[in-house]
Amino acid sequence: MDLTYTPKQNAFRAEVRAWLADNLPSEPFASYDSREGFEQHRAWEAKLFESRWSMVMWPAELGGRGSDLIEWLIFEEEYYGAGAPMRINQNGQLLLGPTLMEFGTQEQKQRFLPRMAESLDMWAQGWSEPNAGSDMAAITSKAVLDGDHYVINGQKTWSSRANFADWLFGLFRSEPGSTRHHGLSFIMVPLNTPGVSIRPIKALNGKEAFAEVFFDDVRVPVNNLIGTQGQGWHVAMATAGFERGLLLRSPARFQSTARKLVELYKAHRVSADRDPGLRDAVLETWMCAEAYAMSAYYTVGRLSRGEQIGAESSINKIIWSELDLKMHETAMRILGTRGELVTKGASAGDAAGWLEGFLFAQSGPIYAGTNEIQRNIIAERMLGLPK
Ligand SMILES: Cc1cc2nc3c(=O)[nH]c(=O)nc-3n(C[C@H](O)[C@H](O)[C@H](O)COP(=O)(O)OP(=O)(O)OC[C@H]3O[C@@H](n4cnc5c(N)ncnc54)[C@H](O)[C@@H]3O)c2cc1C
Repeated sequence: MDLTYTPKQNAFRAEVRAWLADNLPSEPFASYDSREGFEQHRAWEAKLFESRWSMVMWPAELGGRGSDLIEWLIFEEEYYGAGAPMRINQNGQLLLGPTLMEFGTQEQKQRFLPRMAESLDMWAQGWSEPNAGSDMAAITSKAVLDGDHYVINGQKTWSSRANFADWLFGLFRSEPGSTRHHGLSFIMVPLNTPGVSIRPIKALNGKEAFAEVFFDDVRVPVNNLIGTQGQGWHVAMATAGFERGLLLRSPARFQSTARKLVELYKAHRVSADRDPGLRDAVLETWMCAEAYAMSAYYTVGRLSRGEQIGAESSINKIIWSELDLKMHETAMRILGTRGELVTKGASAGDAAGWLEGFLFAQSGPIYAGTNEIQRNIIAERMLGLPK
């Protein structure tokens, strides 16, 4: 594979870099797990959209640039390299967006995709239920067809930022008497519909990062169904593939953290070198981030030849989540007791952000399907081991 960038790709990189240099917010936003921070991030998303940086791979008529995957990787490298704000409409833009492009009707695409690109609609994912997490086929929330509406009853949980979002997409049991992955439907629900109530849940960092969502005779028009009624599992598996695959967590995010880790190590070298193995841990994670980036370029090459990622997306998910954990653990070892301080602003110095990142990294092996489940998928579908 030729890893030399073309002049067009170099020009693209220069354009992204220049735009970010001119437009990055001067002060960090509040946490996106607060209403204030959520709205700041939404406004930033709109600004990205205005200059067609929100969804570079989407076509021009949807506000994108029609970029290919290599340009997307370049965009991500520049975006994370510049320390730009986290993207917070990923449930919409990266999961539901591609799902609608594949399974949505023309009317649904026109209605939802442009608003999603601009983040006028922020999306939450409603799959997990109290007794249906890893075993998603155990979903019991119901959607009963009543004329031209579904009537939804039940409960979803762990729905990231559902307490701030505008819409939720989820799986609901629509075929009476059906079991497991049969008889489920993929439905989009406006969260301001009467009968929806939302109870925030605090994450490890004390912020209301997710929510339980209760549905009590919630009426949703049938044209909010994606795909065929009762065939939602098939649609959801495609969405899950987008989540574990390349798009949700681009290597650039981890390369940027790895570079910060190297800087942290260099600044604390004298004390850090007293801990045998710390330098190796820094080096190992930096190399892993670089290797993940190389493997992403390799995957992009394969995808552009029309190949599929399939079950290999499970390998990606394990790599980035375990890498993120290891990098943050290493940073905490370097910082020692200072790492445990909840610090903000200038007084935090080089400890800023590491504790927050460390706490969030704990969840990487859980969300988007736990790593144990990913290992099951690799064992069964890639290695052909018995169930
Ligand atoms: C930060 C974060 C954000 C999230 N956001 C969302 C969201 O927006 N929307 C949403 O719907 N959900 C969301 N979730 C929920 C997430 O998808 C679930 O937590 C996850 O699927 C695991 O389900 P569970 O919590 O019910 O654990 P369980 O499924 O009960 O698993 C408990 C433990 O048993 C293991 N286990 C279970 N089954 C097997 C098996 N067959 N083989 C081996 N080990 C097994 C698991 O790996 C885990 O370690 C989020 C979770 C987190 C942490």
